[in-house]
Amino acid sequence: MSYDKVEVPDSGQKIEVKDEENDEIYVPDDPIIPIIHGDGIGQDVAPAARKVLDAAAEATGRNISWMRLYAGQSARDRYGEDVNLPDETVEAIREHRVAIKGPLTTPVGAGYRSLNVALRQTLDLFANVRPTYYLDGVPSPMKAPEEMDMVTFRENTEDVYAGIEWEAGTDEVEQVRDFVEDEMDFDDVMHDGPIGIGIKPISEKGSKRLVRRAIDYAIEHDRDKVTLVHKGNIMKFTEGQFGDWGMEVADEEYPDDEVFAAPDSLWEEQDEVDIPEDAVMVEERLADAMLQWMQLRTDEFDVLAMPNLNGDYLSDAAGAQIGGLGIAPGGNFGKARMLAEPVHGSAPKRAGQNMANPTALILSGRLMFDYLGWDEAADLLHDAVEETISSGKVTYDLERQIEGGEKLGTDEYADAICENIERLA
Ligand code: NAD
Repeated sequence: MSYDKVEVPDSGQKIEVKDEENDEIYVPDDPIIPIIHGDGIGQDVAPAARKVLDAAAEATGRNISWMRLYAGQSARDRYGEDVNLPDETVEAIREHRVAIKGPLTTPVGAGYRSLNVALRQTLDLFANVRPTYYLDGVPSPMKAPEEMDMVTFRENTEDVYAGIEWEAGTDEVEQVRDFVEDEMDFDDVMHDGPIGIGIKPISEKGSKRLVRRAIDYAIEHDRDKVTLVHKGNIMKFTEGQFGDWGMEVADEEYPDDEVFAAPDSLWEEQDEVDIPEDAVMVEERLADAMLQWMQLRTDEFDVLAMPNLNGDYLSDAAGAQIGGLGIAPGGNFGKARMLAEPVHGSAPKRAGQNMANPTALILSGRLMFDYLGWDEAADLLHDAVEETISSGKVTYDLERQIEGGEKLGTDEYADAICENIERLA
């Protein structure tokens, strides 16, 4: 593809698909990787993270050719005031298969729809994956934060994020109200007067491919358990159906000695279930109860798979247990496709001040390296970040919670990690 305002790097090779159905890619040692720096603190954390990812790649015999793409404010500056997400940004990510992005601002209530959601939907990045693990030295509100080692798989394309909703006062919302009341016989549920209505679609396709991805991850990464988290006791035909379809995947698509679908797990205690040795157990839990168990029985949970909204709440809550937004990484996965991005947003108040913590973006890069099969570089990143933080060298957000910590700017913190990479390599 030829690009108009994007500069294609003059070195490096494209990542190619090996087997799309089975999520396999061919990764050269010198891949071209698109990057969106992002809005707000994106301008601080993205250059810092790039430097660290380059250092880890080079220390393990690889070289990344970055291809800068534009979205949000940087796209408006380059392409014109009404262009937030240029087609060529989407196409470049589609073509190059694996990319990384900083945060993008979404105005509340007015303006354009979330660019993050648009990217995930357009590229069919159906699984939002957030590994939540403790790094030595990070301040946490929990007594035993090191017990947290969980990976959440959040459905990315449907549920409330499908965006099927109508605004109060419009003709459309009244048409939907009439249909639901008159045709569907729900005539005593909705209050009179202005109302907003949204639709929550949860499909067999969306649910099964997400749960399948979570189970495959558990098998590949030697995890013991996949927990399907939903609110199926109340929303039986959406959330409950997600649980049923998920359990069907576990039951029908894998041999019992590899994946064991725990019967009646919503209502039984786990230790009453007889699990074949070495099998990944798949169970169901209700979302409200799960929020308390995550704190009270942290070490019992491993991989979680959830519809979109539950995943949003639960993964942020899990992130808080191990130190919060500044360090929480994530990635969006499709078929032979990945877009790494931190959990946090653009934190406009801290933008452009060389203050923000780049750890979340760096560890999102670690998840990307993991996907590329660069295990050594991924481990090196983890160890160098942990070493830096546990020596007390941190950005402002962690320094104010650590006694005797040394407050570094975004850049200086990235340099300290690079030094540790060199030392540990
Ligand atoms: P936010 O994550 O941007 O910030 C919340 C608070 O967390 C900040 O005030 C700051 O104190 C702290 N924080 C976040 N990241 C930090 C970092 N790296 N280092 C240090 N402190 C950090 O959430 P918000 O204020 O709700 O959202 C701001 C904007 O970001 C909104 O427009 C929102 O839509 C957008 N957003 C984008 C994404 C994304 O791009 N994936 C995700 C969440 C929010």
